[in-house]
Order: sequence, then C-alpha cells, then structure tokens
Amino acid sequence: MIVVLKPRASKAQIDAVIREIKKLGYKPHAISGVERTVIAAIGDERAHHTLETLTSMEGVDQVMPVQRRYKLVSRETNPKGTQLTINGHVFGGKKFQVIAGPCSVESESQIMETARAVKKAGATFLRGGAFKPRTSPYEFQGLKHEGLKLLEKAKAETGLGIVTEVLSEEDVDLVAEYADILQIGARNAQNFALLIAAAKSGRAILLKRGMSMKIEEWLLSAEYVLSHGNPNVILCERGIRTFETLMRNTLDLGAVALAKAETHLPVIVDPSQGAGRSDLVSAMCKASAAINSDGLIIEVHPNPKEAMSDGAQQVTLSQFGKLMTELKPFIKAAKRS
Ligand code: PEP
Ligand code: MN
Repeated sequence: MIVVLKPRASKAQIDAVIREIKKLGYKPHAISGVERTVIAAIGDERAHHTLETLTSMEGVDQVMPVQRRYKLVSRETNPKGTQLTINGHVFGGKKFQVIAGPCSVESESQIMETARAVKKAGATFLRGGAFKPRTSPYEFQGLKHEGLKLLEKAKAETGLGIVTEVLSEEDVDLVAEYADILQIGARNAQNFALLIAAAKSGRAILLKRGMSMKIEEWLLSAEYVLSHGNPNVILCERGIRTFETLMRNTLDLGAVALAKAETHLPVIVDPSQGAGRSDLVSAMCKASAAINSDGLIIEVHPNPKEAMSDGAQQVTLSQFGKLMTELKPFIKAAKRS
C-alpha cells in the first residue's frame, strides 16, 4: 500500500501513521518530498485490508493499494491459460464449447427432444435448471430431484455433459451427483458459503457474474472457489443491470475480454440472460465468439411460447441449428474450431 500524507502533515502525525503501519504488520518506508511525505507500506496486502483504516488518521490524504486482491485466479499464476477437461471436452483450449438447453427442465419429452437436437447441431453440454431461482415465489421453481433424473436420462442417451444450477448449500451433494458442471447463478454469485460448499464438491463450477457485480468482485468469487481447493472454474458473463430498459440486461463483452486478460480461467458468455430476447441471441453469440470467448451457454426450447421460465429469450431447435452454422466463421476468425 502507498500512504500519501497531506501537504502540511506534522512530524507527530507522520510518526503516528508510521507506528500504526508497523502495528498492522507492514514495514513502513517513508519518502519525504518537497511538498509532502509518502509512505510505502511493505507486506502482503491481501491479508491486511485494515490498512484502509489509515485514511481516518490525521494528516493522511490517500491510501492506495498496489497489489491485486486475487492471486490464484490471476493470469500471472498461469500465463498460458487453464484448460479444463470436463466429460471429455476441453474448456479454454482450441475448441469452442457450446452448452445448450432449456432454461428449466420441464418434462421428459422436452429435455430429451432438446438434448437430441442440440447434440446434433454440435453442442457439447446440455443445460437445464432443476432448481430455479425465481424472482417471485409463485413462479415455477423447477422439478428439483425429478429434473436431475431427467437430465441423467438425457446424458445416458446422448453423452452430453450436464450443466445445472445449485441454489443452496444443502443441495450441493445431490446436484453434484448429476452435474458435470455446477452452475452458480447471478443471484448467488456472492453467496460465499455456497461457493465454498460447491468448491468442496470437487465438481467444475460455472460461475455467473452477478447482475450488479464489479469485475473485481466476480473474480474474487472465483478466488473463493480456488482458495478452497477447487481449480475447475469457468467464468460466465450474463449481462449486468444498467439504465437500459429495452433489454433485460446489458451484455458486457468488455468484461469478457478483461476477465480473459486478467485471469487464466476459461470465460464463456450467456447471451440468453444477457439480452432476454431470442431475436438478439444470434448476434450476441457471434460477437462473443469473435472476441475470443471460450464458449457459450444458450437457452434452447422446443416450444418457447410454452416455456415455464424465460420464454422470451429461448431460441427454438431450428433457430439453434441455424445459429450454430452461422457461428462457424466467427469461431474460425478467433482461430478456434
Ligand atoms: C439461468 O441460467 O437460467 C439463470 C437463472 O441464470 P442467471 O443466474 O445468470 O440469471
Ligand atoms: Mn433462464
């Protein structure tokens, strides 16, 4: 940390700050300029955030961090980037991964028909919520265990890996039995107890960005998982809340580019929650591929008009097939297959 003192800070004030820095476990190194004194506080900042309290001391102008608050997810830790092999497919490698399926698992025919179609079109994983985080308690909450069993059936027939959300700590063991990738949703992206429990399951984690989360906060949530012994994290940008009202969210592709530069983790995009409108999904998929994201998670439903959640944003099976074909040149442009 760098502690900048006010221009007319007295010797007594400076000495008090130096004493406090030592007390907090840092080595102070004072540099006296013509106008003001600056103190470099040397030590590992990640464990000592209390230094920010120095701003309340007399004579202190600013306290500035010099280190990142995350380390395990930082690209410096693995400059080449992490490749995660899950159910035989590699995230973060040359191959662009597509996860597709309905917002919610609704019935056997719905999930089986979708699984067959998305597999045929080139998806490598099947998504589908069995435990659904709904804004209203009166809306469809998911088929829960029954939904997980239907996903298992779809995997048995198609071989597609399963991506499904876990909503609470108490369900982690159950969901982890069926999921190849545990989805932590936007609403739970800073539920630290859930992140730790999910980390301990050993399953790969798809970590959505919370709808009002800063990028640093999102990366710190990933740091929770890695620091609890699970290196298998895929980051997922799914749109954030802005002043915009014509779209459900604002898909922040800048965050994807930044997360890829700043961390070694694979980063994918969810254009469905991102737009909230099926007619925009294809364009957002292409943009995501072109900026070199590692993949997509797309909501696909055999009959979106009758979907029990997120009907407006789900593409049909045939729209998905067309989208996958149109996506190819963009994947190629990013030097991927
Ligand atoms: C979803 O994937 O259906 C979902 C609820 O996602 P998010 O947590 O990003 O809103
Ligand atoms: Mn959804």
